Amino acid sequence: MRIDTTRAILSDLIAYPTISTDSNLPIIHYIADRLETVGAAVEVMVDESGHKANLFATLGAPRDGGLVLSGHSDVVPVTDQDWTSDPFDMTERDGKLYGRGACDMKGFIAACLGSLDLLAEAAKTRPIHFAFTHDEEVGCLGAQELVKLLAKRPVKPALCIIGEPTSMQVFDGNKGCCEYTVRFEGLPGHSSAPEKGVNAVEYAVRYINRLFELRAELVRRCPEGSRFDPPQTTLNVGALKGGISHNVIAPRAELAWEMRPINAADMEFVKGEIASYVEDTLLPEMRAIAPEAGIATETIGEVVGLEPMDDNAARDLVFALTGQNHAGCVAFNTEAGLFQSLGMDAVICGPGSIEQAHKADEFVSLEQMDQALTMLGRLASART
Ligand SMILES: [Zn+2]
Repeated sequence: MRIDTTRAILSDLIAYPTISTDSNLPIIHYIADRLETVGAAVEVMVDESGHKANLFATLGAPRDGGLVLSGHSDVVPVTDQDWTSDPFDMTERDGKLYGRGACDMKGFIAACLGSLDLLAEAAKTRPIHFAFTHDEEVGCLGAQELVKLLAKRPVKPALCIIGEPTSMQVFDGNKGCCEYTVRFEGLPGHSSAPEKGVNAVEYAVRYINRLFELRAELVRRCPEGSRFDPPQTTLNVGALKGGISHNVIAPRAELAWEMRPINAADMEFVKGEIASYVEDTLLPEMRAIAPEAGIATETIGEVVGLEPMDDNAARDLVFALTGQNHAGCVAFNTEAGLFQSLGMDAVICGPGSIEQAHKADEFVSLEQMDQALTMLGRLASART
């Protein structure tokens, strides 16, 4: 039975403790071996550290228009979580398979590997690609590398299904996530002579005020009928540290802020506006007093979201495969937007619930695994 093979594969996958801090090479080689047995062309792309790898594989003759099945191989830690059973030794209780990564997202990878014979059949009409990445949980690092490589390739896949846990519901949008740390370098001095110093905290506060103005602007820019919740791009000022004491002009300040863009245009808008405020207003004022003063921005991560599109062939394919006709937008970040940035239509649909992801006693139900196998199996007979 297909479900039994898949359950055994999931157990193998969970037994690799692929927490993002550790190497994922053993699981990547396990997946590569499985794919090679059905004749897939497999590439393992090891990163600079030599401890992490992405896998990209193709079933069928390489040509444009293929379908990518995408998943990440890493999982979040189990530290300080109270598990009923060993998180890296899959256990079954009441029709549920427990283990770290069961739903996020080794369940989907297991469903792909358990369907390889059918997918090989489906690949006769359209190439099927597999993109299994590292370090999704720490900022989609692997996928960012992978899309850079794929962008240079002559063969262009057309569609992508990201099997993040959505309880097999269809989602065609997710917000992006951009994080920045901004460091303000001023000039200290006695508070009784403010004109002789550059107060880093005051400049940080003006920067924050500009962010708040942009926040209002983002509400105005939000497209009518946006299905996100909240509908617009949001900004968060997460942390502000700086200064020394009541009577000292603050020499330094550090600001951590984040943006959840609904589309790439908003992301560029905010970045452009804040950068020109820094260049044209804040820096000239600071440097008029202290030429060594400065504002340095460190980009912690910049992952574009999946922008909902009226035309989305990947969504329509999953509609046809699962018999659904409604797509929503998810609040969590995924790799989908990165694939969309390559010109693919992308959709998120996978087994298990995000409710169980990242928690103790993470599980995926056999019923959900069954639905994922049905969806993938139908690719062999789908004509879309
Ligand atoms: Zn995930």
